[in-house]
Amino acid sequence: MDIGSSIERLLVSPTREVKVPIAIEMDNGSVGVFDGYRIQHNCARGPFKGGLRYHPEVNQDEINALASLMTWKTAVVGIPYGGAKGGITVDPRKLSIGEIQRLTRKFVGQIHMFIGPNIDIPAPDVNTDGQTMAWIMDEYSKFHGFSPGVVTGKPIEVYGSKGREGATGRGVALCTQWGLKELGINVKNASYAVQGFGNVGSWASRVLSDMGAKLVAVGDEFGYLKNPEGFDIKALVAHVKKHPQHSVMDFKGCDRISVEEFFAMDVDALIPAALGGVITEKTAGSIRAPLIVEAANGPTKPEAHKILLSKGKFVVPDILANAGGVTVSYFEWVQNAQCFYWEEPEVNQKLETILYKAFNEVNKMAKAAKLDHRTASFLLAIREVGKSTVLRGL
Ligand code: GLU
Repeated sequence: MDIGSSIERLLVSPTREVKVPIAIEMDNGSVGVFDGYRIQHNCARGPFKGGLRYHPEVNQDEINALASLMTWKTAVVGIPYGGAKGGITVDPRKLSIGEIQRLTRKFVGQIHMFIGPNIDIPAPDVNTDGQTMAWIMDEYSKFHGFSPGVVTGKPIEVYGSKGREGATGRGVALCTQWGLKELGINVKNASYAVQGFGNVGSWASRVLSDMGAKLVAVGDEFGYLKNPEGFDIKALVAHVKKHPQHSVMDFKGCDRISVEEFFAMDVDALIPAALGGVITEKTAGSIRAPLIVEAANGPTKPEAHKILLSKGKFVVPDILANAGGVTVSYFEWVQNAQCFYWEEPEVNQKLETILYKAFNEVNKMAKAAKLDHRTASFLLAIREVGKSTVLRGL
């Protein structure tokens, strides 16, 4: 990478780790106290950028790792940001909408001095969405004046960008198409399996079905289903919306399968689009799909990655596969700054241009240096961050 060993320690250390207790009044009159984090990893290439997740397993170590992934993600696609991540240790399903709003606003009250359109720009992640971002923008603006650019992933009505909601899934679908092409498989009529049918999994499926691919297995934390004929994506999206737990379970016309069967499906592409750490040493050995597209952040354990490589799998790593979201976040931030908004085809086109360039650079590097695509992506990204760090000086 030619960046010098002294830079190495700098690149693995987060710039700032903020941990705050968030106390709110619960609906029943009691006081709830939750841990909130915002970890800013690196800003050599631009303001800190990254999502905010609400999940019972959120902890400092995890947010730290995810913050650094954001640094490499923004670098690999060449958008002018650093990396950050935040979260609150909470199961939002156990809270009312009012409690979630109070929690979000209180959190902003505790961290507003560390974020801002030119400092650190949060965005949706696991269990947060456009509504969460609208509350953050509103609360932040109370302290600092009208600031739509403090968060991205906002609803269209409150300064969001067209195409942002589906952007991560669209990027995953494009990477699947290009990965399949590398393997000599046409996306049209290709089969794929998706784990997780939230924002990313469902949007990736919508775009892949427009490309003519067939979703034959799908699952979430409640169970797994298969349909060799291919799922009707529109009907599945409508079902998940109506289902009390937003699950794919009970969808008609398909068979229930085990998680082991799901990972071993004979498909052209496997898309983990749920949480991290799902492809383990055990699961990796059973995977038959030649292409794995990491829609989630960190879905593959390091030991499992080695197994996948030894079996000759093509893995499109998370920092490339799911970079569509932060790329359209960048477009949203640009539109907020210029107060001028683009139509969706323009957003989608610009997204494809950026991702295509990144995919090809990674692919070229992987072939030239005989590396897997994860190592090639990290190499390109770390080199960029390293160069900026050296140029800016200490
Ligand atoms: N949470 C998303 C990610 O992990 C989006 C981040 C963003 O748009 O800043 O990439």
